[in-house]
Amino acid sequence: MGGSMFGLKRLFSGYSQRPAPVPPAQLAPAVVQPARPAVTGLIEQRSTRHVAGWMLDPAAPDAPPTFEAVLTAGPQETVVATSHAALGTAWLRHPPPDGRGHGYHLILPAALTDDERDRLIVRPVGGGAALPLAEQPQARYRPIKHVALDIVDNCNLRCPFCLYDYTNTHRTNVMSDEVFDAAIRLMPYVGDEFFWLSCLHEPTMHPKFTSLIERIPHEFRSNIFYTSNLSRRMPQEYYDVLGRSGLNFMNISIESRTPDIYEKMRKGAKHRIFMECWEQLLAACKAGTAPPKLRYIMMAYKSNFREIPELVAWLREERMASFIDVRYTYDMSHIDPAFKQAEYLDPPDWHWLMRELAQYSPHEVCLSLPPDLPPPPRAETGSEPAPRPTEAAEPVQAAAPAPAPAPLQPVISPGEFEFRVSYNGRAFVAPIYLANRPDIVPDLAEINILDITDPVDYLRTLSPA
Ligand code: SF4
Repeated sequence: MGGSMFGLKRLFSGYSQRPAPVPPAQLAPAVVQPARPAVTGLIEQRSTRHVAGWMLDPAAPDAPPTFEAVLTAGPQETVVATSHAALGTAWLRHPPPDGRGHGYHLILPAALTDDERDRLIVRPVGGGAALPLAEQPQARYRPIKHVALDIVDNCNLRCPFCLYDYTNTHRTNVMSDEVFDAAIRLMPYVGDEFFWLSCLHEPTMHPKFTSLIERIPHEFRSNIFYTSNLSRRMPQEYYDVLGRSGLNFMNISIESRTPDIYEKMRKGAKHRIFMECWEQLLAACKAGTAPPKLRYIMMAYKSNFREIPELVAWLREERMASFIDVRYTYDMSHIDPAFKQAEYLDPPDWHWLMRELAQYSPHEVCLSLPPDLPPPPRAETGSEPAPRPTEAAEPVQAAAPAPAPAPLQPVISPGEFEFRVSYNGRAFVAPIYLANRPDIVPDLAEINILDITDPVDYLRTLSPA
């Protein structure tokens, strides 16, 4: 990563380097031409690895303009890349005000230094002024929204509502150090939605989980979290490492303080062992120099929903809860119909939970509601139906999309991706949808993560321009 101006000149030896244009006043025009309207546009993103924005040639508004990214240094200019603005603009934070224009997203051929990034301009090929820079342009290159890693393919429990069908899982496969190190190579490029150490399975099943945490470079740890059922006894060293880990947060699964209900929902767990582990974790977080924040996830069912408001308050007051996520269950076909029949909440149950939890902001407690939940009747609210909490909440889990009268075109963010990586390094790459995300997101690519030696080179093969 990084590179000096001299490095750039070597790298881009095939590109033209030329002095700044002669001022027009010194030239004698042979023929007087009508003034050509200037190409307009914007640089919205400018990092050490990419530029993105929009541009429009008013003389040919339907044609994708050709542009060049140019590194300036006093009178010297080095064209580092040439491309076309051939994308739509719906993905931009600052699209053209009148909707006319063509988007561009260009990964640079080599990394710039921060200083070089600040001297990079974008302008139309064939003459024309440099495009202006947006206010507060995105200056970091974080093309991977999140990586959902699983370092094992099993769980120690068999919860009746689990999203994963463990019917045919009889052994535990674990991620090797080599695969984990290859995944670490993605970390510098991961954005706001974090690098997950677990997605579908229980990460403490990995016999070297503690040492894997220690393998993560410190500068990336604040972008990392995982979820655990906290029902496996772990050595004290694990808690000590966690307490000083600098990881961002940890999700803990809990449905109830009542042992019978807890063990019914977390099938295979012992409430007594869970409580022991929890006490160890809380002690490590209180004593540690850089502990993860603690978040709690609870599923809402007939057996436990009346307990949830009190449990939420207790977690916040006594158990260091920084955030609590109360969730509905995806309607997976492998979940026992008898469990669904007995435990899934009815609309009035959800409406009761909405009222009980309405006192919390979405940043404190998120109630994820079923997508087909009808709004509460007027009589229940005493006024217009209250907004559903998930409408204002952060997208921690699937939010309920508004029903659309007709299929809407998805809006994809060019050059941005999400990764799912399983224990053996098999990675699935999908695009990022800014609007109208389909229920089933098709993968763009599949690759073994061991084959990605340079993530930017790999992402370049998936990027539009
Ligand atoms: S703890 Fe989580 S991953 Fe494990 S069985 Fe329960 S729901 Fe599934």
